[in-house]
Amino acid sequence: MANAGDGCDLAVRGGTIVIADGEFMADLGITGERIVQVGGEVRARRELDARGLLVLPGGIDAHVHLTLPQPPGDEPAWCDDLHSGTRAAAAGGITTVGNMTFPRGAETLREAIAREDADAERDAIVDVFCHPVLTDPTTQPLTDIAALAADGHMTLKFFMSFGGFLTQPEAYLEGMRLAADAGMLTLIHCEDGAMIAHATERLLAEGRGQIANYPRSRPIASEVSATARAVAFAELTGAPSYVVHLSSAGALAEVRRGRERGAKLWVETRPLYLHLTEERFAEPDGAKYVGQPPLRTAADVEALWRGLANGEIDTVCTDHAPWRLADKVVPGMDVATIRPGVADLDTMLPMLWSEGVGTGRISRQRFVAVISTNAAKLFGLFPRKGTIAPGADADLALWDPTLSKPVHAADLQTNSDYSPYEGWPVTGWPVATISRGEVVFADGAVTGARGRGQVLRRGATRAL
Ligand SMILES: [Zn+2]
Repeated sequence: MANAGDGCDLAVRGGTIVIADGEFMADLGITGERIVQVGGEVRARRELDARGLLVLPGGIDAHVHLTLPQPPGDEPAWCDDLHSGTRAAAAGGITTVGNMTFPRGAETLREAIAREDADAERDAIVDVFCHPVLTDPTTQPLTDIAALAADGHMTLKFFMSFGGFLTQPEAYLEGMRLAADAGMLTLIHCEDGAMIAHATERLLAEGRGQIANYPRSRPIASEVSATARAVAFAELTGAPSYVVHLSSAGALAEVRRGRERGAKLWVETRPLYLHLTEERFAEPDGAKYVGQPPLRTAADVEALWRGLANGEIDTVCTDHAPWRLADKVVPGMDVATIRPGVADLDTMLPMLWSEGVGTGRISRQRFVAVISTNAAKLFGLFPRKGTIAPGADADLALWDPTLSKPVHAADLQTNSDYSPYEGWPVTGWPVATISRGEVVFADGAVTGARGRGQVLRRGATRAL
C-alpha cells in the first residue's frame, strides 16, 4: 500500500512533458491508476527512464468501428474486434477509443449500448466509450436519449447518407433536440444520400463504375450540401454538433459560416484525407484506399492541414474500419459495391506526427490538442483524460520523435493485413504506452491484458 513514506508506485523520469498548452521537463509520479505528482523530486518503487523521449497524454480516438452492425455471417466483415482493435490502439499510443454502436435488428439504442459495453468490459485492453447510432427511429425510441445521457452516454450519432434519415429526417431533428436537452453532443456523417444514389446510378448506367471513378460517386457537392444542412439542423435545434470525418475545403467552409452565425460546431477529420489524394483510386488496387467520403484533391488536403493548424478542425480520429485485403480488393467490385473503411489505429499518431509536426505544419502542442485534449473536452472526459496533471488518469504515450521506420502492415497489431500507407517513411513513434498506470505496450509488444480496459461514463461537452 502506498503511503507518504513509500513515495509513488511508478516514476517516469527525465522526459519532456508535452500538453496542449505547453511543454516542460519534469518527472512524473504515478500511484495506482492516477498521476499524483508532476515535477519536483519524485520518489517511487519503480522507474521508467524517459530521457530523450516526449511524454504525451495518451491519444483519444473518438471514432472507431470495433463492433459489427450485424452479427457475423457469411459475408466478409470488419476484421477487428474490441480486443484486436484496442491492441492496435495501445501500440499506436492511443489509450481511449470511442466506438460506434449500431443497434442490431430491432434493438433499441439502450439495448445496443448495454450489449457493446459488455463486449468492451470483456475484450478491451484500453478504455472505451460507446456512441449510440440512431439508424431507425421507427424501432429505436427517441425516449432512450435522455436515459442514455443519465447513464453517461453523452453522444448521439447519425448518418445523413443512409437508413432512416432518407425517409424521415424530421425524426432526426427531434433526436437532435432531445440530445441537446439532455446535454449531449450530436455526431453527424455529412453526405447527401440522394446525390450519392443518383451519381452512382449514372456512373453504372454509363459503364463507368470502376473504382477509379469512386470520387464521382460521392462528389464533394454531396458532402458540402449535407454539411450545410447539418449546420442548419444544429441551428434550428440548438444541438451542439460534431461533424465526423470532414474531407473537403467546401464542407469546412460551411462549418465556418455556421460558426460565424453562432452555431456550436466542432470538426473531426481523418488521416486518409490528410495524407492521400483521389489519384490513388486509379491504381490497380485502388479499392484499398476507399472510405466514405472518398479521398479528395490536393487543394482539399492543404485546406485540412490549414484547418488543423488554425483551430478550425478540432480532432483527428481514425474512423478505423478494417478489412483484409482480399475482402477489400475484389475483382468486379464497383463504386456501388466497394467495401468502405481502412485500419488506422496503429498508424494515426505516428503519421500525423511525422507529416504534421515533422514538417512544421502543426506544433507539438497542437498535435496533443487534436489527438487527445480536444476529444477529452468534447466527449466529457476532461480533465480525467486528455492532459498530464495531478489527479488525471495516468494515460501516457512515451514518444521518440527521432525514431524512423516505415509503415509495414506486418508490424501492425490490427487484424487488417495491409496498410494504405505501406512503405511510407515515418519519423516519430510511441515506444511505450501507459493506460491508467499500467504499461500496456513497450518494446514493440502489447502487454495489456484483455478485459483490463474500462467502459467510461462521460460528462457534458466542454467548450474548447
Ligand atoms: Zn465511422
